[in-house]
Amino acid sequence: MNLPIAYKKVAIYIKPEYLNHKYISGNKLRKLKYNLIQAKQEGFNTLLTFGGAFSNHIAAVAAAGEEYGLKTIGVIRGEELALKINDNPTLSFAASKGMEFKFVTRSAYRQKTSQAFIAELKEEYGAFYLVPEGGTNALAVKGCEEILTPLDAEMDYICCPVGTGGTISGLINASKDGQKVLGFPALKGDFLSEDICKFAQKENWELITDYHFGGYAKINLQLISFINKFKQTYGIPLDPVYTGKMMYGLFDLIDKGAFSQQSKILAIHTGGLQGIPGMNKTLKQKKLPLIQ
Ligand SMILES: *Cc1c(COP(=O)(O)O)cnc(C)c1O
Repeated sequence: MNLPIAYKKVAIYIKPEYLNHKYISGNKLRKLKYNLIQAKQEGFNTLLTFGGAFSNHIAAVAAAGEEYGLKTIGVIRGEELALKINDNPTLSFAASKGMEFKFVTRSAYRQKTSQAFIAELKEEYGAFYLVPEGGTNALAVKGCEEILTPLDAEMDYICCPVGTGGTISGLINASKDGQKVLGFPALKGDFLSEDICKFAQKENWELITDYHFGGYAKINLQLISFINKFKQTYGIPLDPVYTGKMMYGLFDLIDKGAFSQQSKILAIHTGGLQGIPGMNKTLKQKKLPLIQ
């Protein structure tokens, strides 16, 4: 059920994907669904994937592995983290769900898709079903096509945050021709459109690239205040890496008169709330206000 809110008389409906599972939250559950089925069908008993120290994807894969009876291995960027698992809420959560870690240097991490690196991993861990960083592949896009329901056909715009582009691709494929899909990238770079074109079968979409706040997981006072005020006003928590930036961008566009008052806007709350404690540790160190 979408949660209706209004901002400056424009109707926004929030699709609460963050409520769809206690641990495998938001779009990561959608992205994993068919991959888990595939892994089991192919007879694998281990999932291996990649991610950074605060990754929603790492947390989701660990929880999914436990729930579906698959072993999980997380290849994590940053060797120094090996000694800091207990200080990191995402990694300690993943460890509590049974994930085994392999910490690698940043330069080794960059090689993660090379044949040689994968072969080394197979040598070390035996056979595994490989889930790419961020979880995006054709099966993930298929899962994200299920985010929209028939009732959403009355929406004029569908908004979502964008990381690797898998989620927006699913939304585009499931959208109706008259609808426009707006993606808000959470990071800098113009490689994304190309990635989306690999999976998206329609052209009714656009990326709004003005709201990445300097890059992936970069945030500032303005964004923190916005997230806290949004929760106070509407009772809906936003995460600082993805949904906070999308909603900030959407409100800013409404401020600038980009939407008519008759428009119906669907905003996908893709989850990511597990990242808040980790972000708050960083904010505390920087003596910035915390996310409430
Ligand atoms: C991973 C993630 C995204 C990005 O999804 P992509 O399919 O990689 O574009 C958006 N929001 C949240 C909360 C996420 O965890």
